[in-house]
Amino acid sequence: MGKAKYEPTDRERLVLDAVENPKYDRQILNGLDPFVNGTAPQDMIGFYTPSELDQLVQIRGTERDIESRMPVKITRHYFEMAKNSPALQTLVKASPDETLNLDGVEDPGNQMDYSPVEGLLHKYEMGLLYVISTCSAHCRFCYREELIARKPVEHRDGTVKKKSLARILEITDYIRSHNAAVAANGGRHPETGREKLREILLSGGDPMVLPNSKLAAWFTALAEAGVEAIRLGTKELAFHPDRFDQAFLDMMDRFHDTYPEVGFRLMTHFNHPDELLAKTPDGGYTEDGNGFYKWHPNTRRAIEAVVSRGWISVENQSPIIRGVNNDPEALKILQRTLKRVGVENHYFFGGRDIVAYRAFNVPIEEAWRIVNESQKGLSGVEAHARLALSHYRGKTEVAAVTDGPVPGFAGAENGVVIFKLLRSVADAPDRGKVCIVGRNPEALWFDDYEDRILFDEAGLFDDADPFDEASLFNYLEFESQETAELTPVLA
Ligand code: SF4
Repeated sequence: MGKAKYEPTDRERLVLDAVENPKYDRQILNGLDPFVNGTAPQDMIGFYTPSELDQLVQIRGTERDIESRMPVKITRHYFEMAKNSPALQTLVKASPDETLNLDGVEDPGNQMDYSPVEGLLHKYEMGLLYVISTCSAHCRFCYREELIARKPVEHRDGTVKKKSLARILEITDYIRSHNAAVAANGGRHPETGREKLREILLSGGDPMVLPNSKLAAWFTALAEAGVEAIRLGTKELAFHPDRFDQAFLDMMDRFHDTYPEVGFRLMTHFNHPDELLAKTPDGGYTEDGNGFYKWHPNTRRAIEAVVSRGWISVENQSPIIRGVNNDPEALKILQRTLKRVGVENHYFFGGRDIVAYRAFNVPIEEAWRIVNESQKGLSGVEAHARLALSHYRGKTEVAAVTDGPVPGFAGAENGVVIFKLLRSVADAPDRGKVCIVGRNPEALWFDDYEDRILFDEAGLFDDADPFDEASLFNYLEFESQETAELTPVLA
């Protein structure tokens, strides 16, 4: 017998029955073969030099195989933007350096610990869904390389298998049952202590690769399950902005008309201004006469169409990647340009400890300096973005890095880094707690600070599993005690 199927309600049908599914002509090139065999369109052949291809072909089939680590993929639009941009080339072109050092983990942030149902990560008051395992093009530094390359990872029950995608029926059943238990228990889940699951992020891969009918099916089913806000994470505005066409916008409008109570947040992923601005043949930007730079017209049209809805909030987030955007000037232009058209600058991320992270990550302190420099001269509203790292305990801001020693504090002779927990994966009360470590300019991940922890009320260097129910309850109990029980090493 097949798996049970989700049955949409009459209200959902009001949206679903009106959806159009146009075909999108992304002209995608998959893998290195089109470049190696010369079957790529003539003007794209030179995207890789013969020597680059030689090196990549030589390591095929070995443990350094680039395509097994992360499949190669590019759209025609991104190729056009990248051919005049070294930063975008680094983002999308495979390089043999990627697999020189394969340190890292297949499940960064212990994601599978938070997966009560296939395809769902339940953290905080929010759920993240894997609804697709590919994107229109692939970023070499992708944090979901294990999903996109369909690699087996260890699940919470100990089995090792590929990550599965979310299914509407199972996910909406889980949301309903979690939220019913929370409501019946005075606002907290009786077993995990968590609050209502209010917000769901559709992720993957890039959900914008799905047809409008699939997107609409997710939106309406989540709305019926009582979700207060839906997020959709996408890089499609950079890879193929024409995906945001009238048929998509009509579907969105119909969804909003039918479910006006549900908030919608589009989480965009622009790493560099070259992904949205028009460039001159010599690699510069052209001014529009008002001191701003001109956009690529298709990207501008797509962004304006989304932002002008008013009810869709658009928020950009981007990791800081070596060779792509570790450049304060580029990030300054990115933040100004996005804010000017109504896109909020949400997060910059420090690199995660994915497999091969040493090829992509910028040291944490350097990333902080880059973001800080980029925000000098920006107005307050342009400079909202914070630098955050996805610690397994929760999103953690790199709040400050001191330039010099902190007099009088043992261990702070070279200065300190101050981390601030923005949210805990298990629950809210951890927010705002800090961790202070002695500086290590080479540090790429938290491990590199293990020998210089000065103060850690945030528990970033504790071994306790924050998902473990016993430790969660101990923690909640602990919360009600005097925080003075903490003995900061810095005091
Ligand atoms: S768009 Fe996101 S999910 Fe897709 S390849 Fe790039 S980083 Fe990975």
